[in-house]
Amino acid sequence: MSYDLVVKNGTIISPGGCFPADVAVVGEQIAALGTNLHGSREIDASGRYVLPGAIDGHVHLADTRSASPLTADTFASGTAAAAFGGVTTIIDFAESQPGTPLAHSLELRSEDARGQAYIDYSFHMNIRDEDVSRLEEIPQIVSSGVPSFKVFMAFEAYRLTDVTMFRIMDAVARQDGLVIVHAEDDQIITELRRREAGSGMSGARLHAASSPPVTESSAIHRALALAELTGARVLIFHVSTREGLRELTHARSRGQIVYAEACPQYLLLSDAVYGENELVASSLMVRPPLRDPAQQEALWQGLAEGRIDVVSSDHTPRKRQKNPPVHPPGASGIETRLMLLHTFGVAAGRMNLERWVEVCCANPARIFGLSRKGQLLPGHDADVVVFDPEMEAVLSSSALHSELDYSTYEGMKVYGMPMTTICRGQVVVENHELVGSSNFGKFIHRVFGS
Ligand SMILES: [Zn+2]
Repeated sequence: MSYDLVVKNGTIISPGGCFPADVAVVGEQIAALGTNLHGSREIDASGRYVLPGAIDGHVHLADTRSASPLTADTFASGTAAAAFGGVTTIIDFAESQPGTPLAHSLELRSEDARGQAYIDYSFHMNIRDEDVSRLEEIPQIVSSGVPSFKVFMAFEAYRLTDVTMFRIMDAVARQDGLVIVHAEDDQIITELRRREAGSGMSGARLHAASSPPVTESSAIHRALALAELTGARVLIFHVSTREGLRELTHARSRGQIVYAEACPQYLLLSDAVYGENELVASSLMVRPPLRDPAQQEALWQGLAEGRIDVVSSDHTPRKRQKNPPVHPPGASGIETRLMLLHTFGVAAGRMNLERWVEVCCANPARIFGLSRKGQLLPGHDADVVVFDPEMEAVLSSSALHSELDYSTYEGMKVYGMPMTTICRGQVVVENHELVGSSNFGKFIHRVFGS
């Protein structure tokens, strides 16, 4: 049998193991894995790894309706950069506008992406409205292919009361959906900020000092207690402390289904940056804040041991302002995740290749309900990445493809690089050249349990 496309002679990297095989594609799907497969088009992957397209379940691209969008990447530039990084699906957010039906907010956000994506995409539905009428809209949002709901316990314009979180979790659990939480104790952080500022502290040091680890773990504890009461499945975004991870472990031991996300900035950068260059420090005044190196090691360990399930970028490419020179907080990284995790995870001996693919590809697919993605299996979407483990590069904004003129990982040396990225059978990046089209990527209807 002849196939449309065959990726030949590479080493397949899958959560279950690594083995030599060809991957054959017909149309948009994987048709077979085997040896000596042939197709009308063949891509040689000798000496290279062949992995499932990576999924980044946490990115923030620009809102095109805003007169001055804060983030530098549109769906077009962000998804192109993602494709260079071996990503074939991103999940962004449909931010709810208070007083507005969720379906309307989702429709507005869909317009930003439609016809503007090189790879596939979806959205998490954000709820920041205490109005109970939003709860009645949840089933409709789930059936429109968006079964995950993001809630914030921090940021004044977004944070919800516990009772609203409880109601949302209850409503989402009834639909077998997923609740995603930004967990920080905002009121205590605000109080600590007030006190520390009174003693003369400011800037990045104040930011770090006012958010000690317990302000994360106590919020995670509260969120998981509400999840236990309602039976909701919960994912905690950007877990940054061992104390926070401990709360997740306790919840699992009670039988709850809970997940943890790590982001490269918390794994690779420490709070030492807050004492350095002011612009760099301000760009990394993310929430939760960067932690000390011992916390980083605890996260790596959690990742290797399976207590952290997914790694996402939280790509928030905030533009530097010139006058006065400030860099609003937000880490970039939509393109760099596979390279960074390969370098500082696999090559550094902190995790094996199987685990690398599990946390970047297979687990996000399972946890976010992308049932035909994240694995190289016949019948799955032909999302395939050819990764050269021998390539070396120094990360810099000039070599990366985000519109941002500064990379969070500027100057870091990486080993291994995605060379070719295929999304649903279509070559999007070939040998590190963009060959895809921005009207190819499509909205993926997500559903759990299929
Ligand atoms: Zn985020």
